[in-house]
Amino acid sequence: MNTDQSLVLRTYAHATLTALDQLSGDGDFGDNLREGLDRVTAALDAHPDRPPYAVAASVFLDEVGGTSGPLIGLLFQELARAHEAHSDERDAWRAGIGEGLAAIQRVGEAEPGDRTMVDALLPARDALEAGSGPREVAVAALDGAHATAALRARRGRASYVGQRAIGSPDPGALGVALLFWSHARAREE
Ligand code: ADP
Ligand code: MG
Ligand code: MG
Repeated sequence: MNTDQSLVLRTYAHATLTALDQLSGDGDFGDNLREGLDRVTAALDAHPDRPPYAVAASVFLDEVGGTSGPLIGLLFQELARAHEAHSDERDAWRAGIGEGLAAIQRVGEAEPGDRTMVDALLPARDALEAGSGPREVAVAALDGAHATAALRARRGRASYVGQRAIGSPDPGALGVALLFWSHARAREE
């Protein structure tokens, strides 16, 4: 991805995720994700020799707020573990996403259809298990995120607002889908 594209994506994604979290939660999700990713970038620039997913995990687990910070931290933590265990990048990614989803469900107790990031992660995990490549996996995550627009939330702050968010997707699900999309773009370069 070149700098212009990443700037457009970063700005647009932040505004969209903020607006979605204003509709169904407290409006901080765009800030949480952007600040977390900026801190990861800064930490990796400062320590280029450290394993990237381990750096991302400690930033999100220890420094990022909201419900999403620690949950996304768990995903990065499992990706870090899987990259230690598997030398093949695709094997590591598949195992890490599977274990990351399991960890998020253990801690957050969300089931599929509860209108959370699980609804993007689960179809991505299934696509990976079926042998799909990064782009198809990202499309599966985006489809899952878009489908949350029809759901009423049963977890997190959004569960207090009833019908108000119907018609718009869950911010956490869309945010996670955008991470898969960025990963696919990076693999294609
Ligand atoms: P907060 O509500 O604490 O401000 P964020 O705005 O950081 O949290 O993150 C909101 C997102 O977190 C939601 O859009 C949803 O995807 C996700 N989320 C909330 N609760 C859970 C849960 N129990 N399991 C999985 N994801 C969750
Ligand atoms: Mg929020
Ligand atoms: Mg919050």
